[in-house]
Order: sequence, then structure tokens, then C-alpha cells
Amino acid sequence: MKNLCEIVKDLLPLYHDDVCSNESRSMVEKHLLECNDCKKYLDSMNNDFIQSNIEKATEQAKFDRLKGLKKKLFRKTMMISAVSVLCAIVVFLAGFSLIFHYEIPILYEDELLSVDIADDGVINILFNSKDYHCIYTYTKTIEKNGIEQDVVFVYYTDSIWTKYFSKPHKNEVKQFSIGNNIMVDSDKNGESILSKEDITAVYYLIGDYKNLAQMSNEEFTKATQDAILIWKKCTVL
Ligand SMILES: [Zn+2]
Repeated sequence: MKNLCEIVKDLLPLYHDDVCSNESRSMVEKHLLECNDCKKYLDSMNNDFIQSNIEKATEQAKFDRLKGLKKKLFRKTMMISAVSVLCAIVVFLAGFSLIFHYEIPILYEDELLSVDIADDGVINILFNSKDYHCIYTYTKTIEKNGIEQDVVFVYYTDSIWTKYFSKPHKNEVKQFSIGNNIMVDSDKNGESILSKEDITAVYYLIGDYKNLAQMSNEEFTKATQDAILIWKKCTVL
């Protein structure tokens, strides 16, 4: 019997895993009916198997949970990164826009502009300061001293860039010209209403000069009353 027990115990792992031959299976089952010792041995094998499966399942659950957490963390990190990149882009664009496009009117001071009349009568306005961002002009027929006159109002703006950072190019003449049909009002067909000869004066605007085009004559006169005369035709008083 002892020898048989040894043989059965050798076979029990195969029997347990259901990989032994039919003859071995019959022999083992027959022996298990008679031998308590081998039956106990098989029971302990089953218990070990169940225990090991429970441990495996617990480990797998732990692993799955950790994997889930890692996935969540990765998603969160990606989300934070994407939002950060988006914020950085928005801040960069806002900063860029502020520095290069936010306009600050340049207040008139002595010798900011000088006027030069070319041989063909074009009025050249020269900007004598460091740099500017944009020029705005507005042509209007006004009544001054009882005479109707066509005058040009002009003002310059800085951006933060031109005010604080940009360096003027050497030998660069900052000039624009009135009278080449660009700076003079046109009608709907693009035909020039005024010619350079009609312009009698150029003023630099100060104060509230937004929406000049929408203003009534009265509002316009009020908005432009402090404009500084920078040039006028000699023949006009
Ligand atoms: Zn036995």
C-alpha cells in the first residue's frame, strides 16, 4: 500500500490538473476511495489551488486598480498640460496683441511734425520723433473766419512697441503726403473730391477724436476746437 501511495501522490498533480490518462485516473480514484491519507493530500492540493487563485485574483484586482489610477492620472496630466499650453498661447497672443496693436495717441509737442510743400504742390508731413504705430487723417470742409475751407486733420498713435522698444532706422524719413489722391477724400466712385490745391490747412488732433465721421457739424466743431494748426496756405488768413 505504501508503494501505491507514493505512486498515487506522484500522479495526483496530473490528476488534479486533469491531464493524466484514463487508466491512471481510474487507478487514482480507486485508491482514493480506500486511502484517507492520499485523499487528504488531494484535499490539501485543492485548498492550495483555491488559495493561490484567490491570491492571484487579489493581485490582479490590485494591478487593475493601479492601472486604472495610472490611466486617470495620465489623462489628468494630459488635460492639465493641454490647458496650460492653451493658456500660454492665449497669454502670448494677448501680450502680442497688446504690445503691437494697442494704440496710444501721441500728444502734440513742438516740432513733432514739420510740413514741406513739394514742387508739385503735394503737402509732405514729416514725423520728427522716434517712431509711431499709425497715422490717421480726416479731411473735412469747415467754416473758419466766415470762409469755407477744406482742411486735413491728422493724428499719430504709438503702440507699446513703438513707444518703448522699437529703434528708428537710420536715415529713415517718416513722411506721408497729402495730395496724391490717397489722403484726400473720395466719393463713392473713387473720384477725388478734393485736390491738393483745395487743402488750406492741416491740423493735429488732440482730445476726443474718435468717430469723427459720425459726428454732426456741431459735435465735430467741438471735438476739433483744440486741434493744433501745423500748416496753412499762405494766402489764407
Ligand atoms: Zn494512499
